[in-house]
Amino acid sequence: MATADGGVAVLDPALRQKYIEERNKRLRPEGITQFLKLADSTQFKYLQEDPWVDHAAFNAKPPPVSDGDDIKFLVMGAGYGGLLFAVRLIEVGFRAADIRLIDDAGGFGGTWYWNRYPGLMCDVESYIYMPLLEETGYMPRFKYAYGTELREHADRIAAKWELTGKTLFRSRCHDAEWDDVAKRWILHITEHRGPAEPKREIRLKAQYVYVATGILNAPHIPRLPGFDQFKGQHFHTSRWDYKITGGSDLDWTLDKLKGKTVGIIGTGATAVQAIPQLAKWAKHLYVFQRTPSSVDVRGQRPTDPDEWTNKIASTKGWQCARSENFNSQLVNAPISEDLVDDGWSHTLSYCGVIGGPGIVSPDNIPEHIAKLHEYDLPRAERVRRRVNEVIRDPEVAERLKPWYPAWCKRPTFHDDYLPVFNRPNVTLVDTDGHGVDALTDDALVANSTSYPIDVLVLSTGYAMHVVEGSGSLAQRAGVKVTGRDGLSMDEKWGREGAASLHGMAAHGFPNFFFPGPNQIGATANFTFALSLIASHIATTLAEAERRVDQSDRLTIEVTRAAEEAWTGEILMRSGWFAGVSGCTPGYMNMEGAAVAVQDQMKAARGAFWGEGMLSYVEVLKAWRAEGGLKGFQIDANN
Ligand code: FAD
Ligand code: NDP
Repeated sequence: MATADGGVAVLDPALRQKYIEERNKRLRPEGITQFLKLADSTQFKYLQEDPWVDHAAFNAKPPPVSDGDDIKFLVMGAGYGGLLFAVRLIEVGFRAADIRLIDDAGGFGGTWYWNRYPGLMCDVESYIYMPLLEETGYMPRFKYAYGTELREHADRIAAKWELTGKTLFRSRCHDAEWDDVAKRWILHITEHRGPAEPKREIRLKAQYVYVATGILNAPHIPRLPGFDQFKGQHFHTSRWDYKITGGSDLDWTLDKLKGKTVGIIGTGATAVQAIPQLAKWAKHLYVFQRTPSSVDVRGQRPTDPDEWTNKIASTKGWQCARSENFNSQLVNAPISEDLVDDGWSHTLSYCGVIGGPGIVSPDNIPEHIAKLHEYDLPRAERVRRRVNEVIRDPEVAERLKPWYPAWCKRPTFHDDYLPVFNRPNVTLVDTDGHGVDALTDDALVANSTSYPIDVLVLSTGYAMHVVEGSGSLAQRAGVKVTGRDGLSMDEKWGREGAASLHGMAAHGFPNFFFPGPNQIGATANFTFALSLIASHIATTLAEAERRVDQSDRLTIEVTRAAEEAWTGEILMRSGWFAGVSGCTPGYMNMEGAAVAVQDQMKAARGAFWGEGMLSYVEVLKAWRAEGGLKGFQIDANN
């Protein structure tokens, strides 16, 4: 749906040319297959292991589930998404005793469990990002919480709602099959019990399944010639190896890097946070850049307890109101004063990727993209000016400037990142969009130059789009999902593309729910969407059970007509996202891969709700107010 020029026709001709050139030089014919399929790799097997888990402690305790157990609610994933669902179930009256969570991690937190790199923090204000602050009475220590506090908060939520003893950690679900006679999902789970004990295979039955397995937790690695010869140490940022760097997730004293030459590949949101820490300790740091991030002002500060009590958290319902206020700023539909008032709430063009008010028809696309650029340009110019102001060497400054609008890559915010490039022990190796060429036994090769390094940090992101296959929710989660009448979720998705009601449930998969990521409303604040969806499904289930005398065999399933109707609504609004396919490559546009004409409709079916989060909230509210659970077929007597 992109315009032929990638949607930049409204820009000044020289700038327009620059955006197009910079994008084109990054297009790679191999698209997402430039990344390794980790399942096939022995070298990166460590990415499938959990460096943080304490197996001995787990093995000493009785597990919270036994083989053959019949559970009412099985929640896959114990990150904020899974926890929020469990909490919302309890809030609407279900018993905590009927809930079990499983996660292949060794603790709560998902993203915040796995990622422990130095510098880790949330980019959305913690007062709206950290879920359930009002309910837990917790005041975040900083405006942008650091990783440890975010992980501790997951533990806090689990403890408050008594979910700690109900979660099976170190356990991965790989198969979920609907048994229509028993009216249960049959789940096959492998519990990893550490190197000293055999794995335990567990089979569970569950009446309802919720899949909160996240979208940014499968690390990916570029295919680089010579990687298998590289003799230096290496790790991915999502499995930071403090044995190599020194320090710990609680203490970023990376003293083992003293005297070492370090290379880091990638300059995305993770690298922007980790690089200032690496630069403090490495003898020399080479930053291998393919595309610069846009780096805006952060303005980190400790929370002022007086401001917290008397202003931020002073009224009942403040967190939801503040979140909604943020969402409205993001889509240029302010409902009152900008409460968060930060770099994010001023990123007015981010609505290009999360949707916004109004429906964009094919005829309106050029005007729509023009409007987005109008929102974007002042910020883009300010961000580029900031580079000039901070960086002393004009040539380096030029290399650090992003030449794409803010909706193309998640914008970043940091006060210490750019100044790093003024340090004598840091070299920016800009590859002019080409990326690193190869590795040798002791060096990284880029721009036909060899850079000897001792330690390589891979800040190369996540497999947001699976390298091969349908890209269904099931495939992302690594679970073979088989619904009613043997229907495979992958086959259905591969054949037709995404289909759901509200982005949360699909025909053929009774009692099976998920928080998108396709066909839902989006915002920059992930936890807002996770919380909203969890509430919506919990309320729906409570209402379904209220209608029947005997809920043990209740099934609730989206009708075919309802999912096609919702998908039609999604398609009708998908014009909003026309600017994304013209973006510089990245995970938002499948690394710039060209989508074959016959697959374009399929891809469009997977879009977010084009009218944005404010509208999505209203649509869900109106649906609940109607009261008929419209679009679901409910049966308890079969
Ligand atoms: P996750 O946190 O990814 O948790 C999913 C869990 O499910 C994981 O522990 C995973 O191991 C487990 N799992 C997956 N498959 C299976 C399976 N088959 N069986 C069992 N368990 C399984 N968003 C923001 O809005 N603001 C931010 O500042 C922000 N910062 C981020 C920083 C980083 C480094 C990353 C990677 C992401 C960030 N995000 C941010 C996005 C973040 O992922 C979400 O905000 C949110 O934490 C997602 O929660 P989740 O529970 O849906 O998924
Ligand atoms: P990204 O996918 O954003 O970045 C990966 C980086 O690796 C890019 O700079 C990419 O370049 C680069 N890269 C990949 N292959 C090569 C190659 N062959 N040669 C050179 N460079 C290469 O991953 P991140 O982990 O940084 O972030 C992923 C997402 O996680 C974010 O978008 C955000 O949603 C979330 N996040 C949020 C944070 C927060 O602020 N709280 C912190 C960290 C992550 P190119 O751009 O050219 O593809």
